[in-house]
Amino acid sequence: MMKCVSCGKEFDDNEIIYNCTKCNSILEVICQPNVSRDIFEGRKQTLWKYKEFMPVDHSKIVSLEEGGTPFIKCNTIGKELGIDLFVKVEGSNPTGSFKDRGMSVGITKAMELGVSTVGCASTGNTSASLAAYAARAGKRCIVLLPSGKVALGKLAQAMFHGAEVFSIKGNFDEALEAVTGLALEGNLYLLNSINPYRLEGQKSIGYEIVNDLDWKSPDRIILPVGNAGNISAIWKGINEFYNTGFIDERPMMTGIQAEGACPIVNAVKDGKHDIEPIKNPETIATAIRIGAPVSAIKALRAIHDSNGCAETVSDEEILDAQKLLACKEGVGVEPASAASIAGVKKLVENGNIDKGEQVVCIVTGHLLKDPNTAINACVEPIEIEADINKLSQIIK
Ligand SMILES: *Cc1c(COP(=O)(O)O)cnc(C)c1O
Ligand SMILES: [Zn+2]
Repeated sequence: MMKCVSCGKEFDDNEIIYNCTKCNSILEVICQPNVSRDIFEGRKQTLWKYKEFMPVDHSKIVSLEEGGTPFIKCNTIGKELGIDLFVKVEGSNPTGSFKDRGMSVGITKAMELGVSTVGCASTGNTSASLAAYAARAGKRCIVLLPSGKVALGKLAQAMFHGAEVFSIKGNFDEALEAVTGLALEGNLYLLNSINPYRLEGQKSIGYEIVNDLDWKSPDRIILPVGNAGNISAIWKGINEFYNTGFIDERPMMTGIQAEGACPIVNAVKDGKHDIEPIKNPETIATAIRIGAPVSAIKALRAIHDSNGCAETVSDEEILDAQKLLACKEGVGVEPASAASIAGVKKLVENGNIDKGEQVVCIVTGHLLKDPNTAINACVEPIEIEADINKLSQIIK
């Protein structure tokens, strides 16, 4: 069953619908199986380890073994900040971002519904992921991208997996409006995160974190927020495990946005339950360059109900954090992902995070998604002959 998050109206699972017909708000999937946590033991480390919590037809699963991503302790940065810091490395998913979790479940739902064409608007990673999963499922895939603002690796993936890619003269928010229009006319099944089945897959990040911590909740989960689906999904997953009695406590959900694209942070700081869209969002972290996040209501509830918070970071802080994580911990992430690390730094410095807190940062996408930004942050290699004497002189 799906349910409107605002008025509570219920919808049947096999209805193709994205907004409430009564109040136009967004929907969520209701899922609360009654199982024991022993059932997960010994299963393969993919998101389907938690299949009882994935309300789709299990005979139609489309998977590339997404999920089960590394959970890495960051000793050096953690020590510098005086906290117990972990990163959940979502760049290790099949196409290099957490979107694969959502797409595995979303495309499985598309199989169940029997649709032939799927589509999305994307800042890049959604399209890379959808293109791959649509290819695997044998479905036609339509992708709308904001012209000139998609990182190279993501664009290459969407095109190479055979999606029909359109470059929209406008930003992500405008591309999303256009593809939603196409979906409502029945041209395609929409797999942006307004589709609540996407979040069913992504909630597994929450499951894995508490499983990684031996069935304990961390004090805090921090992640970059763009369209605000992921923070909503992780909070949903945490609550399902909490309500089932698998964990006794819940983390403070903490969202980080870029200064130039921060409608959620503004709403949190003003104590509002919905956002004012930002007209011309701008940041080097293209994955979170979004002015009108679709899942804002869910995200604001997650932050509010978990006693969390939200903070902005500058592009410079993002790039510094990206370098820090790469050079001090060996973890390579794309700029948007580094917003979580920049955020944790800022929140420790301004006293919002206590010393000794256990903090998990979700690093959402792989370094190589945006090779241009990575190369621009480095100096060119020194060109030199393969001469041991000359080389040893320079190295010394
Ligand atoms: C999609 C994405 C985000 C933003 O997630 P939302 O669910 O839109 O808030 C952040 N980082 C990366 C790398 C992404 O691909
Ligand atoms: Zn409603």
